[in-house]
Formats: sequence, structure tokens, C-alpha cells
Amino acid sequence: MILLLLLIPTALWAPGYLVMHYPELTEPLLNLPWLTLGGTLLLSQVYHQGRLGFLVIFTMMLYALIQSQLQVPLHLEGKRLQFWLMGLLAPLMVLLITLLPERVPFGRQSVGHWLLLLSGAGLMLLLTQVAGLAQSLTQFLTPRAFLLTEHSPAPVLMLAWQALIAVGLWALYLRRRDSASMAALLVVVGLILVCLGFARPMISATLLAVVGVALFVVVLQQGHQMAFLDELTGIPGRRALNMALKRVGRRYSLAMMDIDHFKKFNDTYGHDVGDEVLKLVASRLSRVKGGGQVFRYGGEEFTVLFPGKAPKLCQQHLEAIRQDIADYGFVVRANKQRPEDEQAGRKQRGQGGGKTVQITISIGLADRSGERSDPEAVIKAADQALYKAKKAGRNCLKLA
Ligand code: GH3
Ligand code: MG
Ligand code: MG
Repeated sequence: MILLLLLIPTALWAPGYLVMHYPELTEPLLNLPWLTLGGTLLLSQVYHQGRLGFLVIFTMMLYALIQSQLQVPLHLEGKRLQFWLMGLLAPLMVLLITLLPERVPFGRQSVGHWLLLLSGAGLMLLLTQVAGLAQSLTQFLTPRAFLLTEHSPAPVLMLAWQALIAVGLWALYLRRRDSASMAALLVVVGLILVCLGFARPMISATLLAVVGVALFVVVLQQGHQMAFLDELTGIPGRRALNMALKRVGRRYSLAMMDIDHFKKFNDTYGHDVGDEVLKLVASRLSRVKGGGQVFRYGGEEFTVLFPGKAPKLCQQHLEAIRQDIADYGFVVRANKQRPEDEQAGRKQRGQGGGKTVQITISIGLADRSGERSDPEAVIKAADQALYKAKKAGRNCLKLA
């Protein structure tokens, strides 16, 4: 993401350079945003990323607006107003799109989304296209407001408004960790830079082309996460394990872990609470030391892979994590009052808000050796060791 944000200053510098040294490139450059944004729109459809698709469509509308309406000096009647409107309304629209429920742009249930999108863009156009309205609005504003004069604080106010929305989107991203909020943030940052450098030639073309590339990367990254991360727990899933086993080399240890009596836990507290416990177990397992990589194998089973390590060296780290989970009091609450993030959860645990239950895990550990050369055989051996651990009374580790 930092890399993507670094791309934007490059785009700020590039247009002047291009226009000066390669004037023949300016015409094709004007089409570049259509290409990068269009490609991103296609890819977002492939991955069913509706919000991101709408963001891309809105960015395209914005580019069309800039190219068709704002390629004239801003001191012209109505144009400055149109520029302010775009600068004020566009980030708000981006925020709205990000907050709307997820819909695929070309699906049946997205009528409301399209209405919002078109009315937002339409409003910007209408207010300035209807010449008389624009004029009277300008006349209405000019005498009393400072907004439309040359030396007005309007640019600073607009920037503050845009920055406020950017900060809001950043906060939203930190909360949701989703591709759409990140994409929205990139669009708004791009828009801020476009507004700041509006007088420069080719600014919107280069910047929005770069935004298109950035959004493309965001979609790809999201696709990668969808493929390799487990949706419930957020840790790498089975596919990631298979990939890791392909490149792990000739020496490694592998542990299979299984939550004890989890079916009973589900039956007692419900599947939702079970899911919460799975998340917490996953996050605690992820703290395993000694270079262990944690995967959700499936259900309530997890795998830890130790590349390059003999079982003797992994054992203490696994015992430590087993003990850590056994000592951890999971607080079971009624569904509704469960806090959303872990910090609030910790606080509530401190206050003893619900019933505390103990969760334990059993572990089977195996390594790759002469008779177990392929990963399937190692997993099978670890599974058999896990079975031994279950038979030995659970909450313990057994070696293959
Ligand atoms: P053992 O100590 O022998 O492992 O007993 P167990 O009950 O954990 O074993 P079993 O394999 O019979 O049950 C596993 C249970 O895990 C079945 C299912 O209810 C639960 N489970 C599997 N996947 C999920 C999941 O994604 N969410 C929730 N909430 N429960 C799951
Ligand atoms: Mg099981
Ligand atoms: Mg189990």
C-alpha cells in the first residue's frame, strides 16, 4: 500500500515531463485511465467485488466529468463552482459507496446503487450545466461568501473536507480490513492530488491512470487472500498449506492439532460461539515461536509447519502454545453483547462478564523421514500421533 501511495507523487511529476518531452504521447495518455480502470472493473467482476466495481465506475464518471467539463480555465463563470462541487461531492460519494451493502454492479439487486451513483454525478453536472441556475448560484454566493473569489480560503476548506473523508476511510479500513475501503482511500487520495494540481496539464489522466493500476493491485491482492486465507479465522488455509509443503524442502516437522471435545462445546453454546472460539484459538496459535507457520487444516483442526526443524526442536514451542491455550479463559457471552474487537473483548473478560470455559487442544507431531518422504505420509503420521494424544487423555502432545 505504501508502494502504491508512492506511485502517486511519480504521477504528479510525470505529466509535466511527458508533455514537455513527448508531446505526441499526450493523446494516447488521455485514454490510459479508461484502460487501467476498465481492466480493474473487469477483474473486480471476476472476483465478485461489487463495492470495488462501483468505486471504479464512479472514478470513470469522475474522469469523464473532468475531461468533458473542466478542461477550461477555472475563472470562467460556473466552472469554479463546478470544480468545488466535484471536490466536495466526489469524496462523499466515494464514502457512501464504501458504506453501502455489497452488490455486484451488473447484478439484479443493484438498482439503488446505480441510482445513487447517477444522481451524485448528475447533481454535479446539473448544478452547473443549467446555465441560469449556475449563474444565479454564483451571484448568490459571490457577494456574501468568500467561496468563489480568487483569494478565498475555499481551497483550504475543500482540502480539509477531503482530508477528513480520507481519514474516515483510513479508520474504516483499519476496522474492516477490506479491499473496498482501501480502494476508496486510494481514490480519494488520487482526487485530492488531482484537485491540488488541477492547473497542471494531464494531471487527471496520469493520476487516475495510476489510481486504476493501484486498484488493480488491490483487487489482485484481495483475490490472493480469497484463495489462500481461511475466511473465518483469517489465517492461511488448506490451499496455502499445500503450497507451503511443495516448497518446504527435505527437512521439516509438521504438527496436527485438534480442539478437544469441540462437538460438545458447539452443542452446549451454539455454533456461533464455536466460531468465535475457533478465531481466538487461531489467533493464539499464530503466536507459536520457533518459526512455526500456522494453517487452518479444516474444521477445528490446525496444522503447524516447522521448515528445517527436527521434532525435538519444535516440541517445546508446541507445548508452550498448548499450555497457553489451556490456561486461557474463553468467556462465553450471549450473542448480542459480544464485543466486535479483541481489545474490547479483553476488557470485558477482565470484568467477568460471562461464563469462563477452558479450551484444550491435542497435538500430534511428525517429521519427514526416510519412510515418510511425501507430505501426505507426514500428515498421516502426525494424524496418527494426534489420535494417540486423544487416547492418552487429550490436552497433550505425542510424537509419531
Ligand atoms: P475430540 O476431542 O475427539 O476431537 O472431540 P471433538 O468433538 O472435537 O471431535 P469431532 O471431530 O467429533 O467434532 C468436531 C466438531 O467440530 C464437529 C463440529 O461441530 C465442529 N466444527 C467443525 N468445524 C467447525 C466450524 O467451522 N465452526 C464451528 N463452530 N464448529 C465446527
Ligand atoms: Mg476433529
Ligand atoms: Mg476435536
